[in-house]
Amino acid sequence: MLNEKLQQALNDQLNSEFSSAYTYLSLAAYFEDLELNGFAHWMKIQYQEELMHAERVYAFINDRDGRVRLQAIAEPDSEWDSPLDAFKFALEGERALSKKIYAVVNEALAEGDHATHTFMQWFVNEQVEEEAIVRNIVSDMELIIESRDGLFLMDRDLASRRPQGEE
Ligand code: MG
Repeated sequence: MLNEKLQQALNDQLNSEFSSAYTYLSLAAYFEDLELNGFAHWMKIQYQEELMHAERVYAFINDRDGRVRLQAIAEPDSEWDSPLDAFKFALEGERALSKKIYAVVNEALAEGDHATHTFMQWFVNEQVEEEAIVRNIVSDMELIIESRDGLFLMDRDLASRRPQGEE
């Protein structure tokens, strides 16, 4: 069974995943507005992945006989200066999320809760991948900066992203 502290930490984690999903949906809407449909598609897949992460945490809290408590989700940002700025924002968000995940891992270790510690390792690994993918997109965008042709080609490229498990 989860102790009170870890239950709170996991409920916070659940909220972070939903907040992240909400932010990615806001980013998708920004790109839809710019008619960059490939970028919008990429962001929507990311949104769906974050929802799946939230569901993982939800299931784990229940499996451990804990109590899920849903918390408020803050209004996400909705305007960015440029597509590059939007992806830099996404990268900062992933880095912040990694830090929160590490905090839960530390707490699990401090409490001697090996089940939570093991469960969280999936998220630790996932964040390495998330950060690398978004960082690569940011550096590609920095290469094509100011080039509308480059943006068009990247938009087409990102349109081909498939949901996890279907790649
Ligand atoms: Mg996530």
